[in-house]
Amino acid sequence: MAISQELLNKITSKLDIVEIVSSSGVTLTKKGANYVGLCPFHDDKNPSLTVSPDKQIYKCFSCGAGGNSITYIKEKENIPFIDAVKKAADLAGITVDIESKYSEEQMRYFKIMENAKDFYQLYLNNTEEGLKALAYLKARDIDESMIERFQIGLASSESKMLYNEFKKQFSELDLLNVGLIRKTGDDYYDTFQSRIIFPLKNEDGHIVGFSGRIYNKDDRFAKYLNSSDNAIFNKGNILYNFSDAKTEIKKTNFVYLFEGFMDVIALHKIGINNTAAIMGTSLTDNQIRLIQTVTNNVILSLDGDEAGIHATQKAIFLLHRYKFNTRVILLPDGLDPDDYLKKYGKDKLKQFYENNSVSAIDYLYNIEKRKLNKDDVESKLAFKNSIFNVLHEYNSIALNEIILKKLSEEIDISYESLVADYNRQPKQRIITTPNAVTKTVQVDKEEQIKNRFLTAEQKLVELSVASKRNCMEIISGLDNSFVDKDNYHLFLHLREYYNQYEEFDFGLFESNLSAKEKEKLDQALKPKYDFDANIKDLINDVKAYVIIENEKLANAGSPEEKLGKKIKKKRHITRFGDRGNN
Ligand SMILES: [Zn+2]
Repeated sequence: MAISQELLNKITSKLDIVEIVSSSGVTLTKKGANYVGLCPFHDDKNPSLTVSPDKQIYKCFSCGAGGNSITYIKEKENIPFIDAVKKAADLAGITVDIESKYSEEQMRYFKIMENAKDFYQLYLNNTEEGLKALAYLKARDIDESMIERFQIGLASSESKMLYNEFKKQFSELDLLNVGLIRKTGDDYYDTFQSRIIFPLKNEDGHIVGFSGRIYNKDDRFAKYLNSSDNAIFNKGNILYNFSDAKTEIKKTNFVYLFEGFMDVIALHKIGINNTAAIMGTSLTDNQIRLIQTVTNNVILSLDGDEAGIHATQKAIFLLHRYKFNTRVILLPDGLDPDDYLKKYGKDKLKQFYENNSVSAIDYLYNIEKRKLNKDDVESKLAFKNSIFNVLHEYNSIALNEIILKKLSEEIDISYESLVADYNRQPKQRIITTPNAVTKTVQVDKEEQIKNRFLTAEQKLVELSVASKRNCMEIISGLDNSFVDKDNYHLFLHLREYYNQYEEFDFGLFESNLSAKEKEKLDQALKPKYDFDANIKDLINDVKAYVIIENEKLANAGSPEEKLGKKIKKKRHITRFGDRGNN
């Protein structure tokens, strides 16, 4: 059933906005024809929220929040509009049949996960084993209120504890599908055993997975075990703590982004709650879209090791494309928030988080500068090029001027020379707006498959340009396979180039390319969304294309046809080694 304006009117007409606002915990005082109270949507000191019983609306004159009963429920509980309508209809005593955002199957899975969460919590709080786990948590300064707040539980060391209980209520297939149990041979076992359990929720607060941490010192197993992706869980689509932190993020209008949930918990200890964790090192487009629904300001606080630095750089560029304001906080000496807390205490950590963020551009500049050796010409050029790349991503004339002036002093090259050099670089690394890229283009299946492989190949070109080491690894890894002939020529040019030079220089490299090849290079260097690319996977993709194409040839038509196609196709799937024969 679609939601008509008529239905919405019917629902709101049966509700009283004053009652809805007060029952959500806001104290309202009568003032003339209206009521006023502290606004729950921003950090309100003087009552800025006005509720009008006549018009049946609320309005905050400080933060601008406003609407009717349904809007209020939606905003206050941070639930999707549809769910707010359902809830409001319930309150109004109206039966509605609205299609939910989730399928029946997904709703069933959510229920199983909710039950599992309760089961793990019960086990933590009522067993011998639980006492040991509670002691472990206590030693980590995670007290009862935090266990409740983060719904922490415990998976038993018995291998079928959950299974034996849950098979009474749920089907084995469902339990397998949500990843709570595993099948070995003909038998089922609990996925999580002997681990402290942290529920992972989606943006609407439904539990979709779990992360289990070992707590026995002598344990030989991996420190963390996460649910694998399933019908309700996709790691790249969720942010730890996001559904619970939405209100706080809206209020403060920024979010601290961390790598793991322990960081979120550490920050909670010092009263900072506008936090979320990406549960890994790579921030994804979908995670950014979630954040976008509540704020455009991010303070990145990933780990200080090399992987964390790399992830921070990628996240900055990605966030920039979504027009976020990004700052970075890096704790000293590679410490994570929990380590820092132990070493320096709560006040110091709080101070650090409140005062020590730097702008993303300063962060990027300083990271590149770490490698700079001012006595070495190549190092200076490499530094210059890496800063150019950063500026290309930002594509701002004002920023170019500021940074190029700074760079000029740093490496003792005149500002004018740097500008001239910068302007000689290809202009194609222009930021593509997220909208332009996410627009779905209808292409037929065959074309789609080819595009996928082509993207992999282009990404390899981009990575080859980035460093000599990449380039050599890629060319030897590809072992002469390629999807597109011009890309293949680019690899040959790159190999020649790197045989002569250590550092990449656009001007120099481009001077040896044909117009067609230049176009291919530009295409490959255009920023794309997939930052997760790893050289080995990409190489395998390109090789898979060659294998698929060959199989197609082998299976198609009569022997004569096959032969004909093979000859025709041969040029297309030429390998490096065949070049001389064409
Ligand atoms: Zn407000």
